[in-house]
Amino acid sequence: KSFSDLGLCTPLIKALEDLKYETPTQIQAECIPPALSGRDIIGIAPTGSGKTIAFALPILHRLWDNPQSNFALVLSPTRELAYQISAQFEALGAAMGVRSVVIVGGEEDRVQQAVRLAKKPHIIVATPGRLHDHLNSTKGFSLRQLKHLVLDEADRLAIPRERSTYLFSATMTANVTKLQRASLTDPVRVDV
Ligand code: AMP
Repeated sequence: KSFSDLGLCTPLIKALEDLKYETPTQIQAECIPPALSGRDIIGIAPTGSGKTIAFALPILHRLWDNPQSNFALVLSPTRELAYQISAQFEALGAAMGVRSVVIVGGEEDRVQQAVRLAKKPHIIVATPGRLHDHLNSTKGFSLRQLKHLVLDEADRLAIPRERSTYLFSATMTANVTKLQRASLTDPVRVDV
């Protein structure tokens, strides 16, 4: 199978050619078609198997149909990985005018980051702590428009598998049920 067999838009096929990505890796070939049809994906594949492009391509394809800011959020466990992910989005999306920002902690300047967020990027690649700071303190920044969420290296996002999780909500909506399935193991349900 080639990238064009997977149903990606022309600008992405062109970008893949320019970047010399010739054939999809297995994770790409298996994730891209269902992602393009709107399914959620749990992708389990070792480092170096091409996971980044497996989620970047369907997101960029959707963005081409519907260009808007804060379209996708990628949570990364480390700063280094966040920069690599953002660079891949920008390389593949350059011809489409895609703008990506990296929001990570440490030395990085919060004010500079707030300025970059105000410029309405399409893609935000963030580590959880600093993203949380901006959600609390950067005026006008929210994720209300978000269409795609990626938890990259989810096993390293500092959320141990052996944990107690408590989910409280005023009502039991379909969204809460989904969140429950994703995050709770055999929970006790208390309805009041
Ligand atoms: P990742 O697993 O996303 O960190 O990707 C590992 C490396 O494989 C990166 O350097 C990518 O640029 C490269 N890569 C990803 N997909 C392909 C592909 N279809 N063909 C050739 N190289 C690829």
